[in-house]
Amino acid sequence: LTLAERASLVGPLDYKVLKTIYELNSNYEYVPYSVIINKLGLVERELKEVLLKLYNLKLVSKEKVLKETGYRITFAGLDTLAIKKLYANKVLNKLGIIIGEGKESNVYFGYDFSDETIVVKFHRVGRTSYKNIRKIRGIKYKEDWIKLTIENAEREFSALSCLTNNYANVPKPLGQAYNAVAMEYIQGNELYRTNLSNPEEVLEEIISNVRIAFQYCGKLVHGDLSEYNILIREDGKPYIIDWPQWKKDDEDLLFRDLTNILYYFNKKYEIYKDIDQVINYIKGE
Ligand code: ATP
Ligand code: MN
Ligand code: MN
Ligand code: MN
Repeated sequence: LTLAERASLVGPLDYKVLKTIYELNSNYEYVPYSVIINKLGLVERELKEVLLKLYNLKLVSKEKVLKETGYRITFAGLDTLAIKKLYANKVLNKLGIIIGEGKESNVYFGYDFSDETIVVKFHRVGRTSYKNIRKIRGIKYKEDWIKLTIENAEREFSALSCLTNNYANVPKPLGQAYNAVAMEYIQGNELYRTNLSNPEEVLEEIISNVRIAFQYCGKLVHGDLSEYNILIREDGKPYIIDWPQWKKDDEDLLFRDLTNILYYFNKKYEIYKDIDQVINYIKGE
């Protein structure tokens, strides 16, 4: 089943149970059955039916806790809560097909209430195995992936908001709920798949957008700038996407972002720009 199909199968009672599990997941890694039934006051048979449905739709996972079953919301479960909330907020009328499955997200087409095409990005943090990430970061306790995932969506939304308010070329943010960010659809292709007829101009425009972020959004630095995170719109305008990993006031990161872009334009279009001059321009010195 597609995400849209699964979400449409979730009725009001299913939604209520799913949302309750999500809320209780901040206290319980797996919410015990007895806690859910006490909270909701449903009859046993009714609740069991709903839980089985949510489990079969893969919106919750389960594990034995002591002598009972515990439940935990999955990424697909979060996606579902987000779809319902974006709908209630009049941001998203209908979810469409998937555009891309990134390392850190699934990106979908959507339609707003005027039937305009929009994009919905569902964040996922920690898709790689628990163990790996715990080792890399040297963390001893279990990270709360749900919380981190939602924080990423909030971070991307806040960056896009400041950037849009300052007229940077980024997708306009339309709404945010749970792990999802709804944004303007930029029709075009990634920079790496585009043969530019005016590469100098495009590079200038990219740099001036990096400058807007730094100057007007509190020294905001993208942090993953590359030919993969720039879309060239059909009219030739470059749009910088994929912002959740931003940092503030990090000059090493700014240097790395610009190195990536200048290297790409140098290699593909034989344009040379002095990185120190570009950095000084961005910092306004
Ligand atoms: P990665 O794994 O590369 O870090 P990601 O999962 O963080 O990616 P994005 O880079 O934001 O996610 O988006 C993935 C892809 O979805 C983009 O490369 C682009 O093709 C498409 N996409 C994202 N946002 C938009 C948008 N606003 N308009 C059109 N296409 C988009
Ligand atoms: Mn990436
Ligand atoms: Mn990306
Ligand atoms: Mn990314």
